[in-house]
Amino acid sequence: IIEFKNVKKQFGELALFDNFNFSVAEGEIVSIIGSSGSGKSTLLRILMTLEGIDGGVVNVKGEPLWHMHKGDRLVPADKKHLRKMRNHMGMVFQHFNLFPHMTVRRNITEAPMRVKGKTRQEAEREAMDLLALVGLQDKADSYPAQLSGGQKQRVGIARALAMRPEILLLDEITSALDPELVDEVLDVIRNLAKEHSFTMLLVTHEMYFAREISDRVCFFDQGRILEEGPPDKIFVAPEKERTQAFLNAFI
Ligand code: ATP
Ligand code: MG
Repeated sequence: IIEFKNVKKQFGELALFDNFNFSVAEGEIVSIIGSSGSGKSTLLRILMTLEGIDGGVVNVKGEPLWHMHKGDRLVPADKKHLRKMRNHMGMVFQHFNLFPHMTVRRNITEAPMRVKGKTRQEAEREAMDLLALVGLQDKADSYPAQLSGGQKQRVGIARALAMRPEILLLDEITSALDPELVDEVLDVIRNLAKEHSFTMLLVTHEMYFAREISDRVCFFDQGRILEEGPPDKIFVAPEKERTQAFLNAFI
């Protein structure tokens, strides 16, 4: 459902991705681990169309993300194409990124109403269902500042789900939380993984969670996937020295 082919990504002098290949199958849950600066967030940001690419092709659902077909040629995507492609995905961020001046309910209904043209009534009904899913029905009229970090992040998840994405991108969604709040957020993700057939790509530092939830774990190192495999392989018997060193730092 996601495919990176020979992707190149440059930040000034820094060639972050060079001939980068990576793919995720439909319904697969893939965790990305790796040290700071290895390109984990950039990968998700490219998918969410927040960062462009400098070479290669990214396909989502068999269609180029950053390009579009014009006759038999591929040309750079226009805004309309990017918007359409972005709608296949929902992203949850480390720092919540909620709209502070809007209630929880409005945070969730805003995109479906504005982008998908849903009526307020319909969007609000769906928002209440999503708030029930993340256990926050009673917070619909609160503002983000009135919520705990864990609650904010559960709203962030509900907001991402409001656009009915097939692919969920999660970027260190628990790393800004106090330890006692981490589990309430991970429980929501566990439930989504179990009850719904999402494709999930998650960047995480919660190794026990990655091990529990993932079909596959990828260890990123300097813009490359140094090692990947089933969680029991990566966490129990990693082959590469750098993977071992990285994981040792977590014990
Ligand atoms: P972390 O674990 O700290 O979140 P990461 O693996 O998510 O790290 P990225 O945020 O993807 O890393 O960044 C990868 C590299 O690209 C870093 O060296 C970073 O400085 C650089 N980079 C990312 N975004 C930009 C940008 N907008 N402009 C310039 N350089 C950038
Ligand atoms: Mg990051």
